[in-house]
Amino acid sequence: MKKFNRKDFIKAAAGIVSSTIYIGCSLDGSRQSKISTLHSLPKLEADVIVVGAGPSGIPAAIAAARQGAKVILVEQDLSPGGAPVNMFVSMLCGGPRLGIYREMVQYLNAHHTISGKPKDDFGEGGANGKNHWYLPSSFMMTVSQMLAKEKNISLMLDIEANGVILEEKGSKNIVKGIRINRMGALQDIYAPVTIDATGTGLLGELSGAPVMYGRDGREAFGETIGSVQKDEKVQRCTWMYVSQKLRDDAVLPWDDLISDGMVEDDLSTWVKAHHVDRKTGIYLHWGATVICHDTRDPIAIGQAQQECLKTLVPDIQTLNKAGFQIHLAPKMGIREVRRIRGEYVITTNDMRDGTYPNDTIAYTSYGLDPWGEDIPEAERKTLPHGIPYRSLIPLNVEGLLIAGKAISGTHLAASGYRVQPIVASIGQAAGTAAAMASLNKTSVRNIEIKKLLKSLEEQGLFLKKEE
Ligand SMILES: Cc1cc2nc3c(=O)[nH]c(=O)nc-3n(C[C@H](O)[C@H](O)[C@H](O)COP(=O)(O)OP(=O)(O)OC[C@H]3O[C@@H](n4cnc5c(N)ncnc54)[C@H](O)[C@@H]3O)c2cc1C
Repeated sequence: MKKFNRKDFIKAAAGIVSSTIYIGCSLDGSRQSKISTLHSLPKLEADVIVVGAGPSGIPAAIAAARQGAKVILVEQDLSPGGAPVNMFVSMLCGGPRLGIYREMVQYLNAHHTISGKPKDDFGEGGANGKNHWYLPSSFMMTVSQMLAKEKNISLMLDIEANGVILEEKGSKNIVKGIRINRMGALQDIYAPVTIDATGTGLLGELSGAPVMYGRDGREAFGETIGSVQKDEKVQRCTWMYVSQKLRDDAVLPWDDLISDGMVEDDLSTWVKAHHVDRKTGIYLHWGATVICHDTRDPIAIGQAQQECLKTLVPDIQTLNKAGFQIHLAPKMGIREVRRIRGEYVITTNDMRDGTYPNDTIAYTSYGLDPWGEDIPEAERKTLPHGIPYRSLIPLNVEGLLIAGKAISGTHLAASGYRVQPIVASIGQAAGTAAAMASLNKTSVRNIEIKKLLKSLEEQGLFLKKEE
């Protein structure tokens, strides 16, 4: 039997939207085949489509809407939020924390701290080095309320976008919009600019842009660190959970847990149970971590998820016995999927040298986070650096911007900008650029960069001197 591989999956995903689907078959001559055809709903139009309502898609949608663009924000889950909500990645780390992300953190601080002590200390560069965490539901409520305030955004939940509407022009594919399956019917959504904020780069791949996956190998982009050979290894997956004390005398059985680290409360950095002055009785755990052989492939993800459970179940039982209840994230956390090759590829050389290209639309001061990959300490030194606008523009494609962790950078460079404050800044810049292109009826490649940068500065996306 032919194995159903990733290419078949991509073809099938693309095919579903462009062809009629037939359900049912003729069992014998006496019975008629039943043919069910998906009907179509009238097309929708917007100035900007954002696919994915996570840490990068939400700021993208809000920024575009605040520029006056009519935005349709499409999310496959039943609530917005992305990884902080559906994977419980609810800890703030890295920075700087600027723009719309900062608005979100201020709201969280004011209304949702676990310790009950609001903090407005953003520290130097907008990143005070302190790691705070919030309940995933707090993120969801916060971003839902922020989105509800924006009159130019239509939020569509429970819709997976798995097809793009393409027109070929010369050597480029022009993305005209997306096709969705809504209430059992097909619907086309058209917009001059679509933003892929899926975190998976799926729309980038479907649009025909070159895809990067796994470790690039040093030679590919002239890097001096990381794996010499190219392979398909991506950062490992981690299934996160929250534990909550149910009895006053309960003590975290740290030494008996198989799984990884945890965070105490929203005031402190990483802790080990016996060093902690525990105040809240509620803890965020980096649960089980596994290798997923292909984070694009649903079957490989299924296998990794089952592998994760093998570690988690004994830990959950240990915690239950010790007097803790466990809230397991609805989804296993996937750190890395596709990266879509764009007009600029961010490399570890940019991190080492602290480069700020002229079209820098966001910063990262997070540094290298190779997650278990063996990089000698001396080679890990990095400087804050800029994210150029060109890294959001996919090669060979028009009408599409990539936002979030799937932008164009090498495997190792991505480890330094994939965290939430930074993908949020990237999203905000993508939304602003998309609105400018759409409202001025020009290509995302032809917008005036100076105007974009000025607008981002006015939106508080660049560091002020005193920060
Ligand atoms: C285990 C783990 C720990 C991490 N730890 C931290 C940390 O401590 N601090 C930190 O800042 N960052 C951390 N990160 C990284 C951070 O969470 C992500 O990089 C960040 O969430 C990326 O944001 P994003 O918007 O690009 O993607 P996502 O958060 O993945 O959001 C993408 C959204 O798009 C939706 N979507 C996807 N495909 C489709 C589709 N086809 N149609 C419609 N909707 C779609 C998804 O449902 C989701 O809501 C961690 C990540 C993991 C996995």
